[in-house]
Amino acid sequence: MILKIKECEPIGTNAYFLADPLSGKAILIDAPLGSYQWTQGLCEEYEVALEGVLLTHGHWDHILDAHLFSKKGIPLYGHQADQLLFENPAIMSSFSLPGIELEGFTVNHWLSKQAAFSIANFVFDLYEVPGHCPGSLLFFLKAESLAFVGDAIFAGGIGRCDLPGGSFEILKQSILKEIYTLPADTILYPGHGPKTSVRIERESNPYVRL
Ligand SMILES: [Zn+2]
Ligand SMILES: [Zn+2]
Repeated sequence: MILKIKECEPIGTNAYFLADPLSGKAILIDAPLGSYQWTQGLCEEYEVALEGVLLTHGHWDHILDAHLFSKKGIPLYGHQADQLLFENPAIMSSFSLPGIELEGFTVNHWLSKQAAFSIANFVFDLYEVPGHCPGSLLFFLKAESLAFVGDAIFAGGIGRCDLPGGSFEILKQSILKEIYTLPADTILYPGHGPKTSVRIERESNPYVRL
């Protein structure tokens, strides 16, 4: 498996490109600014076809390029609780930056908690981890012991809970029930900042303690 990471403008949002060269298939997790062009380059480099874009949640910085994938017919996946944010991200413009254009798009497949969701030769267990955002999803790739967690948890931090639809109590429950219960060696890839692991956060995250 190939895993490539790009930290995107304007606020350091991570995009994750996963490819399986044997099957010639790839996916993208989150679609921040610049991720469309970056993904096109990677698909050419590794000679793979993009099968879909999985969105961890509907916040503007994670979806700025989603409309570009949508226009090319690439299927988009997300949680229905964030439908309004996907279709009309301008409702969050007061939390965005001046000069940033927020263009809506249609999500083609709604995801919810589910074991063994298959896409492009990857098999994910899906978890709902609301609290930072109502439609926050976690994509656990069991075979590789890694999980894409969006803005639910960061290395030594947690997602902010003061945005519309946010709640610290709900986020805390999501982290305790769905993240700290993953195998300890699971590597966590967050929406911002460096990777971490379940073990490290369970032992030292200052915001949510066991
Ligand atoms: Zn967010
Ligand atoms: Zn974010």
